[in-house]
Amino acid sequence: MVDPVVLRPRAFADHLRSIGRSRAYAVTDPQSGNIKVSDPALAGLGDFLRTSPDFHGHEGVFLGVGRESGALFGAFVHDTRRGQAQGGLRFWPYPTLAGFLSDGLRLAQGMTRKNALAGIWWGGGKGLIARDPDAPFRDPAYRRTIYREYASFCTSLRGVYLTAEDAGTGPADMAEVFAQTRFVTCIPAAVGGSGNPSPATAKGVVCAMEGALDHLGLGTLAGKRIVLQGTGNVGSAMIDELLARDVASVLGSDISGERLASLRERYAGANVELRLREGDDHSILSEPCDVLAPNALGGILNPETIPTITAKVICGAANNQLLAEERDANALRDRGIVYVPDFLANRMGIVSCANEQYGYVDDDPAIQRHFGREWDNSVFKVTQQTLRLAAAEGITTAAAASRIADELAGHEHPIWGHRGAAIIRTLVDARWHEGACP
Ligand code: NAD
Repeated sequence: MVDPVVLRPRAFADHLRSIGRSRAYAVTDPQSGNIKVSDPALAGLGDFLRTSPDFHGHEGVFLGVGRESGALFGAFVHDTRRGQAQGGLRFWPYPTLAGFLSDGLRLAQGMTRKNALAGIWWGGGKGLIARDPDAPFRDPAYRRTIYREYASFCTSLRGVYLTAEDAGTGPADMAEVFAQTRFVTCIPAAVGGSGNPSPATAKGVVCAMEGALDHLGLGTLAGKRIVLQGTGNVGSAMIDELLARDVASVLGSDISGERLASLRERYAGANVELRLREGDDHSILSEPCDVLAPNALGGILNPETIPTITAKVICGAANNQLLAEERDANALRDRGIVYVPDFLANRMGIVSCANEQYGYVDDDPAIQRHFGREWDNSVFKVTQQTLRLAAAEGITTAAAASRIADELAGHEHPIWGHRGAAIIRTLVDARWHEGACP
């Protein structure tokens, strides 16, 4: 029998078709914790999940194959107690099905934590499309096909997973998704969406910096030196927020000369220095500063970079900054560096999309309260709660944030309860896997 997880995603999609299917699932029985796969020929899928360090009782993993594109789709549902599993759709190349599954599992659990910590009534999930290296993935016609297929895949899942934008996916792609399914958020402003979330994300990260500095007795951001790796959508908006708080200086780096040229023009006369860096040159991280903000890449905090960092606080927008969570969080703590976990600091992107269906008001209190210091769930207060817990228990800040988030993740949706579990039961009972992917 073929072990499906060693196959390339495209080969797995072909394998699925060879057994007469274009859909597959693995779901966890909520009572026994046993994993059930849709077809005996896919037993290897269940075995992989059972032994994966990234599997944490995920409620369901749903896979599909696009009829025309032949691409492999995934919807990873981690925990729906707080509501529908929500998390962005990543269009990314994966060498094997195992890599595809690990990434989806890990990212879905991360979304459970981010959503719970942000106080949103959503569970955690993640969408993936495996990008075939031979496919014309930049071609607009191909993208239109693949995103429409993915959207119909979401529709078939009856709303247990709610998709959104993520790495490799842009606003035009989201418009295609929205054309085929209602189970999507972060849609373009032209069709009633909340627009670019980056300014909100940047402001939230800056509130987290303030929370961390205040916790450490280091005062406010005024007079501080801040270093940013990455001055893209979030990084550049962060410069505005920092200057508004009278920081002493900002040093930013980017790999895009074009981007830096336009920022140099924008910040002429301000105490903002901008440096061009090669992609593999991370020397910016070792610049002396009060706060270091990784705003570009995941996995940037690792055994190679951590020993070079001299910042007191690390607080940035990039997702999954720690390469290996426990090891690297420990290494930062041992060096006396206060790390504000990314999923705590960068929550405002998702918060700004979360309530799209409820309409818009100016200076929306549902958004503004996250930036203030009154509400217990504001970014500032949750940052302080996390750092206090870490100090009191002698655990890393990453572990403290996860502990708070995991407790909140267990609170059931006040109106709908654990409806996601009922949707999954319905999908299994209706033999969802025998249906055709569009
Ligand atoms: P972006 O693509 O607009 O900006 C990233 C910038 O980093 C680009 O300008 C890129 O040239 C630069 N870059 C890439 N590699 C670099 C390197 N080695 N050194 C220096 N610069 C480098 O993306 P963004 O929307 O600003 O998001 C930044 C990060 O924050 C991403 O990891 C994203 O997943 C995360 N994030 C973003 C949001 C949001 O609202 N946009 C929300 C949550 C998390």
